[in-house]
Amino acid sequence: MKHIFIIVFSFFIAISIKGQAQAQELNFNDPLPLDETIKKGVLLNGMTYYIKSTDVVKDAASYYIIQNVGSILENEDQQGLAHFLEHMAFNGTEHFPGKGILNTLQKHGAVFGKDINAYTSFDETVYNLSDIPTKDGLIDTCLTVLHDWSNYLLLTDEEIDAERGVIKEEWRTGQSGQKRLYVKSLPTTYNHSKYADRMPIGLMSVVEGFDYKSLRDFYQDWYRTDLQAIAVIGDVDVNEIEQKIIEKFSKIPPIENPKERIIIDIPENTEMGFSFGTDPELSSASISFGIRHKKSLETETVADLKRDLLQSMAVSMLSSRVSDIAQKPEASFLAGRIGYTSLSRTTNYFYMSVYPKPNQQKQAFKEVLTEVQRAVNFGFIQSEIDRAIANIRTSYENQIAKKEDKSHEQIERAIQNNFLSNRTMDDIEKKYEISKKILAGITLEELHSTIKKLYAKNNRFLNIAGVEGQDNLSEDLAREVILSVENDSSLKPYNEALDGKTLVSSLNIIRGSIKKTKNDKAVGSTTFILSNGVQVHYKFVDKEKNKVSLKAMSYGGTSLLADEDLPSASLVRNLVQMSGLGDFTAADLKKMLAGKTAGVRIGLSEISESLSGGSNTKDVETMLQMVHVYFAKPRFDTDAFKVLESNIDGYLIRRSKNVSEQMRDSLIVTVYGKNNPKERIFNQEYADNISFEKIKKIYKDRFADVSDFEFFIVGDVKEAQLKPLLEQYIASIPTKKTRRENYKDNGAEWVSKHIDKDIFLTLEDPKANVNIMYKKEMPFSRKNVICTNVLGDILQLRITETIREAEGGAYSPRASASFERQPKPQAIVSFSFDCNPDMADKLVGIVNGELQNIANGTISDEDLSKIRTNFLKEYEQAKDKNSFDMQLLTKYFRFKENINDPKHFESIVKSMSKQDIQNIAKQVLNTGKSYEVVFKPKQ
Ligand SMILES: [Zn+2]
Repeated sequence: MKHIFIIVFSFFIAISIKGQAQAQELNFNDPLPLDETIKKGVLLNGMTYYIKSTDVVKDAASYYIIQNVGSILENEDQQGLAHFLEHMAFNGTEHFPGKGILNTLQKHGAVFGKDINAYTSFDETVYNLSDIPTKDGLIDTCLTVLHDWSNYLLLTDEEIDAERGVIKEEWRTGQSGQKRLYVKSLPTTYNHSKYADRMPIGLMSVVEGFDYKSLRDFYQDWYRTDLQAIAVIGDVDVNEIEQKIIEKFSKIPPIENPKERIIIDIPENTEMGFSFGTDPELSSASISFGIRHKKSLETETVADLKRDLLQSMAVSMLSSRVSDIAQKPEASFLAGRIGYTSLSRTTNYFYMSVYPKPNQQKQAFKEVLTEVQRAVNFGFIQSEIDRAIANIRTSYENQIAKKEDKSHEQIERAIQNNFLSNRTMDDIEKKYEISKKILAGITLEELHSTIKKLYAKNNRFLNIAGVEGQDNLSEDLAREVILSVENDSSLKPYNEALDGKTLVSSLNIIRGSIKKTKNDKAVGSTTFILSNGVQVHYKFVDKEKNKVSLKAMSYGGTSLLADEDLPSASLVRNLVQMSGLGDFTAADLKKMLAGKTAGVRIGLSEISESLSGGSNTKDVETMLQMVHVYFAKPRFDTDAFKVLESNIDGYLIRRSKNVSEQMRDSLIVTVYGKNNPKERIFNQEYADNISFEKIKKIYKDRFADVSDFEFFIVGDVKEAQLKPLLEQYIASIPTKKTRRENYKDNGAEWVSKHIDKDIFLTLEDPKANVNIMYKKEMPFSRKNVICTNVLGDILQLRITETIREAEGGAYSPRASASFERQPKPQAIVSFSFDCNPDMADKLVGIVNGELQNIANGTISDEDLSKIRTNFLKEYEQAKDKNSFDMQLLTKYFRFKENINDPKHFESIVKSMSKQDIQNIAKQVLNTGKSYEVVFKPKQ
């Protein structure tokens, strides 16, 4: 008796000691554990550098310069210069005069706007040279570019003047009803601080008229070593790079008597700020309610991590309550979002964005606010917290598994946050260990007090984008709503009932078997023929760890449907997604899948129906269960359909005054004719043709027979894990084994071979919009595909140079050429851009002239060589991704093409000649069809 007592007693002690020990292990004042693999240093001149070695992209590296400088540092008469300066960095530096940077790097396969780019915001300007090969002395070249950007821009008069037009066009392209109201709301959002008047694009009066000296002064004042960090991330040797950096960058002189780099704090307010606006081009309302909180720039500690975890849990639990309501037909809003994120250098904000149904602004605001208040009054419940914790743990585990696969951009993000805001570049594994301990001790009370703190009384602002002629939410009304919700004594705590069912628990699954296994040496795949006739092609690939992808597809698609079914067909995917799966509504499905990383979506295109899925290694089973249920027990929810109907109504209203949507409609009518049954515009009549029963019928028909689908599974899953799951969930899908469908070629045709039309529209901000397309049927061959793509890229180089750089007539003119394989093999060449209306006709002439030049055989060796190098480089870099092997399998089994074979790509790219490209351009231009539709402002 005594003996037993002692055992029980000591067991009790052991537990309590263990509990204490755990609590003691966490020292809340400790800094967060550092990622030791990122080398950080500071030169004597004050410049900071970061170096990280990673082979996520083999034989390539990315280079960044992070300037702690943005539009917030501009004086009244300098508005727009921070951004202007960013453009000038690509227009002449000491070692690269003129377009030297672009030219040099393009020769090595880099693409402007993608691999070579920059952005300017309120508080920083960041430049990148991405995925540049490490061969041919390019490491030194790129470091020289960073070096020049730091202190050696030429800023010549001519280049400055040439860039004014480009920026004006960038401004024009950025104009919209939404943008105008956003600018109008800035004084409230930023409480009349300097941020409110420093949109980085600036004032066009300044851009057009500033004198050269003010830009040079801004450059001298702010682009300086103590405000700069450079980062090199890639397949490099850290010590070697560090030596090079010390040598090259230490020589840059620090400036004397530097101006103080001030940090703008947003002042506090006790009275809520309010703004209201409408715009003639805006026809749907939105409400955003924010509460600002101070953000510290001190070194992060374990206490900060705990606060972050609590905040992200509270926000995600509340968001999920709000999105559950949005999925009910009686909701007064189309969508509602809750979040907590950064607003400025020293401010975060808790926000609530609401997109009301028409004329329901007040009700929608009240409904979402009530959910916030419910959480403020009663906190959260245990089942929600369990799910939130499961999701956080999974997110950590996925990040740790993919630690070595982090992209250069992700690594740069962490570096940038460290340099600008003193965020810790943390060691994810050690951080997870700490987080686990924190999560184990989190209480209901702590989460309750977190949401109470986030929903603070001070520092509030409310911005309403209303609609002309509607029942808009006025300031008085909004205050009344807030007051009544905050004092509503009838509020009840949140509750939910989930019955513990799983995705497949109500299904009677009869396990099938693998009938036959074939290995294919050419592509390294294994094909399983299942007992129900389904073929699964599989390949183990762990180029990206913990990532598994699935594709399944069958020919047919909408090409087999009657014209009157097309409107319903276009929304099959939406309804299926919104309906949930099996026995679960979409909201319950999300809860049931908490902590799992698996998803499957269906697709219905012109020529095929398909499934595409992804999961981590652990949750392949869940992914295959989902596939099973999509065939065996798809769900069509009438409530979800009602929500879909109000989304459609909302969309119709939203697009009614939207300029780009009007252009899109006019383009369709001009090219395909009025009432073309296959190319209809999305109007009320179209919406009236969508029916629940039709969607259901179309899905059930298109997904009727799994044996007509070919499956592909590629990724980090071993055969031994996969095989029993295939037998359980895929071989068991009931099948008719009768169907072998193909698609039909019955797409819409253009109204005539050549269409040329100017269309005049009433616009708030005058701009023209150019749309040009050529198409030409020709036999499918790899060579035709590649040469067509090359033609597109050469045209892009050409028009960037002529339309943007030489004429300053458009900010981002786009040229592209692609080859469509199915249903009809044809080459398609297109141009599209917004531009200065006065120049539209001239620019149209220029782009058509560029195509004509190529058709005449005028192709520069330099252009062709740039594109060739780019193609080979991108091909090499694509090989490092799992998706390359997915393509390898799909092309091989569907088209008998082996993309590993040099004849498929490399030898064509290496041997193609100017004549090959000319030949495509000639066919397209001389015997193809074309349209040229230009929208111009009504005078
Ligand atoms: Zn720009």
